[in-house]
Amino acid sequence: MADLLGWPVVDDTFADVLDANAHYAKEEHEVAETGVARKGLAIVTCIDSRINPLAVFGLVPGDAKILRNAGARVTDDVERGLALSAAALGVTRIAVVQHTDCKLTAASDADLLEAVGQATGRPAPPGFDPLAIADQPGALAADVSRLLESSLLPKGTVITGMVYDLHSGLLSTVVEPIATG
Ligand SMILES: [Zn+2]
Repeated sequence: MADLLGWPVVDDTFADVLDANAHYAKEEHEVAETGVARKGLAIVTCIDSRINPLAVFGLVPGDAKILRNAGARVTDDVERGLALSAAALGVTRIAVVQHTDCKLTAASDADLLEAVGQATGRPAPPGFDPLAIADQPGALAADVSRLLESSLLPKGTVITGMVYDLHSGLLSTVVEPIATG
């Protein structure tokens, strides 16, 4: 077991998770031979714990790359993951999927900076951007545009922007699919 000298260990915090995993590991699991996305699909969506991406998109493990962050925003690291997915893992189409009742649409950047400051007891460092969403269609259009203009995606990669309704379960297309050129 790896040891980080000087940091006190907190026991039992993950006992429930490890216990659940032990049960999971006893079941049969089909594992695809490689990490290539069988459906050629990548989904960028939010960390909201109410979203079950496999179920929402009708997927099973092996079908798609799923990249999650707060707000489903296209950041440097999302671009990195998508570039590698397109180059080496079979991805040819990308859906950026924000959702209804997202915390990042309900709060401003200032609110979120304040929340981080209160939680830690110190101000967030300069350069930390919460990426709050003041205008959901506008943010989706900006994020899809960023990918369309990315020099890291192959020509012909198709990109769309959607909103997932947590309550109806329906996806709606906000930015029609466009291919990188
Ligand atoms: Zn969200």
